Amino acid sequence: MIIKVQDIDNVFHIPEPWYIESCAFDEKKEQLDCYISFPKGATFSCSNCNEEHQKVHDIADYNRTWRHLNFFEYPCYIHAELPRTDCQKCGKIRRVHVPWAIKLRSNFTLLFDAWIITMAKDMPMNAISRLVKEHDTQLWRILHYYVDQAIAAQDLSHVTMISTDETSAKKGHNYVTIFMDPQEKNVIHVTKGKDSSTWEACKEHLESHGGSADKVTEVCMDMSPAFIKGATEHFPNASITFDKFHVIQTANEAVDLVRRNERKSSIDLKNTRYMWLKNEKNLTKRQKENLDRLKDSDLETAKAYRMRISLQEIYNYPSEIGPMALTDWIQWGRRCRLKPMVDVAKMLHKHYDGVVQWFNTKLTNGLLEGTNSLFQAAKRKARGYRSDKNIVAMIYLLAGKLNFSLKQ
Ligand SMILES: [Zn+2]
Repeated sequence: MIIKVQDIDNVFHIPEPWYIESCAFDEKKEQLDCYISFPKGATFSCSNCNEEHQKVHDIADYNRTWRHLNFFEYPCYIHAELPRTDCQKCGKIRRVHVPWAIKLRSNFTLLFDAWIITMAKDMPMNAISRLVKEHDTQLWRILHYYVDQAIAAQDLSHVTMISTDETSAKKGHNYVTIFMDPQEKNVIHVTKGKDSSTWEACKEHLESHGGSADKVTEVCMDMSPAFIKGATEHFPNASITFDKFHVIQTANEAVDLVRRNERKSSIDLKNTRYMWLKNEKNLTKRQKENLDRLKDSDLETAKAYRMRISLQEIYNYPSEIGPMALTDWIQWGRRCRLKPMVDVAKMLHKHYDGVVQWFNTKLTNGLLEGTNSLFQAAKRKARGYRSDKNIVAMIYLLAGKLNFSLKQ
């Protein structure tokens, strides 16, 4: 196969003094090899101090190779003699930076990196690994490099609100806490663990990227004592809104406890778990019919269900009425004699201010349209390599609105 150097040159845009010497398709290896060279007497910038016009000292590597974008379905490799300069200014002998790769030790070109990052948004890393026939650890290294760079360049000076949630990489293990900016719908910080120290880590990160904890006036979170402690300690000017989805979820869990206590004494409750937990619009026709039959019955589960529904409806009330309605609900709950529901009422009483703060701020953790679905997506994409580090990188990639600058 004959490939015109000029055609390849138009694609690569390789700046002087580099030029494409030749390109050849290796039919045996089924790959395209492009040989890049520089004229005798060419000078380069020192890679240590950037001083320009340094003469070539020697050749460090006679066949340095970088994987480039595929040429149709075939891998393409760039080959070059890699020179070193002996800098007149700083006195260091250093390998030169090549303009087609981001860093000295990378085995891939910038465009290959960009291709991997683009694919990583939609495909699991092990699938990409099979497709491009590169070991996944190499690909993760690319992703981590750009995520780290993008995080380092983050400007968080505008942040005044923080909304947070946690997830686990494996069920019950390896918790990761994610802090978001609900105004910009952007990730502020992702960190391991779910204790109060994660808030300290968030504050440190915020303040090392132009933000200030004192400027944060609103935070949104679940009612975990660790989060409350961390937020109060590290963001003293912020008022707390408890996430409404967590409030409703807590009530839902209580409904489930009531059902479990009652199921042995009632045949009607057989196979009804999800019927009570889901919202009506998500039920199957049969579940809906069954619910219509049972929801106004004397069952304790039905009573707990009605309480959950009415708690959920309070969130639709105007902000002048909502807080009062919640007070009424708490009184109802405390008298209802269903232990799990009494507990919910006590919890809402204890955290009343933060729960009704929602009527002022309307802040929720639902800013990601289900933080959970994002986490699930991140986990799927990191399948087989679920280290915290990989999950964190995936969360940034999927939700971080990071600027993945592919320039040196
Ligand atoms: Zn130098």
